[in-house]
Amino acid sequence: MNGPEIHLSLAPELRFFAAPERRRERTAVITDGASTLGHVVESFGVPLTEVGRLLVDGRETAVTHVPGAGESVEVHPVVRPQRVPGAPLRFLLDVHLGTLARRLRLLGVDAAYESEDIGDPALAARSAAQRRVLLSRDRGLLRRRELWAGAYVYSDRPDEQLRDVLGRFTPSLAPWTRCTACNGPLEDADKDTVHERLEHGTRSTYDVFARCAACERVYWRGAHHARLEAIVADALEEFGAPVA
Ligand SMILES: [Zn+2]
Repeated sequence: MNGPEIHLSLAPELRFFAAPERRRERTAVITDGASTLGHVVESFGVPLTEVGRLLVDGRETAVTHVPGAGESVEVHPVVRPQRVPGAPLRFLLDVHLGTLARRLRLLGVDAAYESEDIGDPALAARSAAQRRVLLSRDRGLLRRRELWAGAYVYSDRPDEQLRDVLGRFTPSLAPWTRCTACNGPLEDADKDTVHERLEHGTRSTYDVFARCAACERVYWRGAHHARLEAIVADALEEFGAPVA
């Protein structure tokens, strides 16, 4: 390329997206003179879902700006908590984030997820059709233009992923109201109604029942409950009280 030279500064939080030799505070870039600022930032490996303010010579500028010679560009991260206007906050998770999906549902957060890989175009289309924030660790997926909204998930560990998403979007938490298997709403169910769906041991031992209105799965306070209680308690302590 033989176009104008600009200088680009990535905020520290965004530098790990770039190749090691471009993680400096300020990097000289030769552009092609036609590409937008959005393309230049993406060429550094930074998904635009992670970018907040863009400043050109100190002035806030849109991603569609075509940078000219000598301009200095500052790339800032999204502000947390991040608001996503235009629809109730709900998520769509890619195929690698099943554990995170179940934990969000446990907290009552609307988290769509298919355990089958439906492919990037279908995921992006579903994000657009249902106005869901797509959560992914796949930067290529987050670059798809048809996405309604998206967010990079910064950790590969489910407990850190959960804190990342809860801290970034601060969704309302309503634990034990959503089916962890299918994302459907839970409703109270009395013992008689769910009787035939329970094992004998469960029938005599447990009293608290709920049933998924979508898939009819029955929930009770079972053997794994202590671990789930701990996840819920930690989330409520750090990210707010449950919704009444
Ligand atoms: Zn269900």
